[in-house]
Amino acid sequence: MNFGFSGRTVVVTGGTSGIGLAAARLLLAEGARVAICGRDAGRLEAARAELAAFPGMLLAQRCDVLDTTAVGDFASAIGDWSEGRVDLLVNNAGQGRVSTFATTTDDDWRQELDLKFFSQLLPIRAFKALLEQSDAPAIVGVNSLLAIQPEAHMVCTSAARAGVQSLLKSLATEFAPRIRVNSILLGLVESGQWQRRFEARPDKSQSRQAWFEALATGKGIPLGRLGLPEEAARAILFLGSPAASYITGASLEVSGGVSRHI
Ligand code: NDP
Repeated sequence: MNFGFSGRTVVVTGGTSGIGLAAARLLLAEGARVAICGRDAGRLEAARAELAAFPGMLLAQRCDVLDTTAVGDFASAIGDWSEGRVDLLVNNAGQGRVSTFATTTDDDWRQELDLKFFSQLLPIRAFKALLEQSDAPAIVGVNSLLAIQPEAHMVCTSAARAGVQSLLKSLATEFAPRIRVNSILLGLVESGQWQRRFEARPDKSQSRQAWFEALATGKGIPLGRLGLPEEAARAILFLGSPAASYITGASLEVSGGVSRHI
């Protein structure tokens, strides 16, 4: 598959695991220069080692996307490395929060709203000037189907994600016609998050395959399984690529058909 990223520079926040790492791998294979970040030094080193087949094409830096100074430093490092131009920003860093209204404290709400909004806002502010140097700049926000199909057991994540969809839609208008802004809406994708939930399962005798199969059945996913990180990554690449040149303010569902709306 070729999405036309040869010679382009792409930033993937949270590129050290799961969907972000898969996107980085695909982009490097396409000939893009890719910058990734994450908070955990060990995960960052492991990702650097995994992507070592692309020498000189990868910049991996520790950065918490909620830290304004760190995001600014990350953008400066990339500006120097990429001759002042970024073609695509993938805002992927983050995680979900499982809690009901009864179990979500005020602090939990503030943390969740902070994570979901500022993981978009801070990188977009920091990278906008570099994106403006591209001939076809784009932003892809990695969001969840929860934005439009909320779940009571993920109450604050669902609400925050709906707000993020609204934010990205507004930015698609404000940044037009220069920068396209789109999002993907994920259902359940096998990644670091789900691996951690699997490891924390109460019944340790249940195998990985059985646990994931039961999850897919329980959720009623029509395609009968969770998505793979590469399947989400391909949707990100499409929306961020010149092939999607007339698409902005849109969202693409990557959920194995689990949504219940038309
Ligand atoms: P992973 O846990 O595998 O990857 C998350 C990545 O984000 C890691 O690289 C992590 O690194 C990084 N990250 C998290 N918080 C921050 C932060 N504050 N600053 C910088 N990096 C950060 O999960 P996924 O691949 O599943 O998640 C990717 C995105 O997709 C997330 O935003 C997630 O919420 C979203 N999503 C995923 C779904 C799924 O089913 N997998 C469903 C719906 C949405 P580190 O922890 O070292 O910082």
